[in-house]
Amino acid sequence: MSDTLERPAISEADEQALLDSIDRWLTRKVAPVAARYEQADEYPAELVDDMCEMGLFGALIEPQYGGLGLPATTYSRIVARISEEWMSLTGFFNSHLMMALIVQKFGTQAQKEHWLPRFATGELRGGLALTEPDAGTDLQGIRTVARRDGDIYRITGSKLWITNSLEGSILAVLVKTDPDSEPRHRGMSMLITPTRDPATGAECEGVSRGKKLPKLGYRGIDTGGISFDAAPVDARLGLVGGEEGKGFLMATGGLEIGRVNVAARGVGIARRALKEAVAYAQIRQTMGKPIAQHQAIQLKLGEMAAKTRAAELLVEDAARAYDRGGRVDLEAGMAKWFATETAFEVATESMRIHGAYGYSKEYPIERLYRDAPLLMIGEGTNEMQRIIIARQLIARNPV
Ligand SMILES: Cc1cc2nc3c(=O)[nH]c(=O)nc-3n(C[C@H](O)[C@H](O)[C@H](O)COP(=O)(O)OP(=O)(O)OC[C@H]3O[C@@H](n4cnc5c(N)ncnc54)[C@H](O)[C@@H]3O)c2cc1C
Repeated sequence: MSDTLERPAISEADEQALLDSIDRWLTRKVAPVAARYEQADEYPAELVDDMCEMGLFGALIEPQYGGLGLPATTYSRIVARISEEWMSLTGFFNSHLMMALIVQKFGTQAQKEHWLPRFATGELRGGLALTEPDAGTDLQGIRTVARRDGDIYRITGSKLWITNSLEGSILAVLVKTDPDSEPRHRGMSMLITPTRDPATGAECEGVSRGKKLPKLGYRGIDTGGISFDAAPVDARLGLVGGEEGKGFLMATGGLEIGRVNVAARGVGIARRALKEAVAYAQIRQTMGKPIAQHQAIQLKLGEMAAKTRAAELLVEDAARAYDRGGRVDLEAGMAKWFATETAFEVATESMRIHGAYGYSKEYPIERLYRDAPLLMIGEGTNEMQRIIIARQLIARNPV
């Protein structure tokens, strides 16, 4: 299951054309409506459709299966730019791509041919269902089970905090196929699980969805709970890799792109918060001069700019390492931890520079400030990232 292939490159001109078209879309279509959708916590169906059309749901899927096959460097630049405008939008396609990459990386040939073209177009949209009410960081503690019943598995259990679970039609679900296994991870498997008929909208047998969870930030996107009561899954197409016992590795190993993505979101938030602060500090006057001329504000701006740039470089470094192939836990962990802590710090400082206006719903700062903390929790909490970094450091430097 090792992943040592170098990932495809894209010419500078092609990458620039892609980024330019995304910038135009952000300016024309997203900027005018983002605050409205966000404040209403409404699913932005028109923007999701646009992202399907732009190919973003297939951004990391290989071209032979209908995707764009982008390298992580280009992907992280796209994620950072979209996050400058509205971070939630990146969640729709990234959670979906985490599911798709599990199939692309670990699936059988028949599974790749069956699922990936449908994932690439967004005909089937979904995400990755790992977390449960009583198990997040400790994934080996999940209780959802899948029992083999002839040619199908029957899943029973509940998942919580699952992105794309309410509007989407399919999920990669982490289950226990052998709940008594020791060590626990050997009894875990990954099942590609249809949850709704995309044509009719009808729920699949044994599937029931909870309500959209009200959240501090990362609004608009559907994060919710989903339950399975003996829900059937085709074993040949559903059991990723055709082998039980590999699910934990699929969920935790080799998907460092998820951490690169979250780090890139952090870069987007930090950049926007810095940009807004630099502009506002030149306009707002106190004591007869723009606040940008007060040293207290300059100290803040200097630190915010240096940290934002450092975050950009760490994300670039992690994305390049990912594109070279092999495991990049160290690089992805460093980028994820630093860029997301930076996002929160820079958003907070930008709010302070904006004074009362930073607290107002009429300015984008309060949204950046509310969106940033999620990044310290998702894709492995920042506590865990530092532990991962330390473990890698020791493993790479034995004495
Ligand atoms: C908006 C949102 C969207 C999400 N989307 C998804 C999704 O699409 N799919 C999905 O599967 N999950 C999703 N999640 C869940 C997310 O992945 C988990 O919240 C995360 O893994 C942390 O798990 P937890 O919340 O159960 O915290 P816990 O695991 O209970 O951790 C609580 C605290 O203890 C710390 N901690 C735990 N164990 C250790 C340890 N061994 N050493 C040191 N510190 C430790 C943690 O760092 C944290 O500070 C989402 C969450 C949110 C908020």
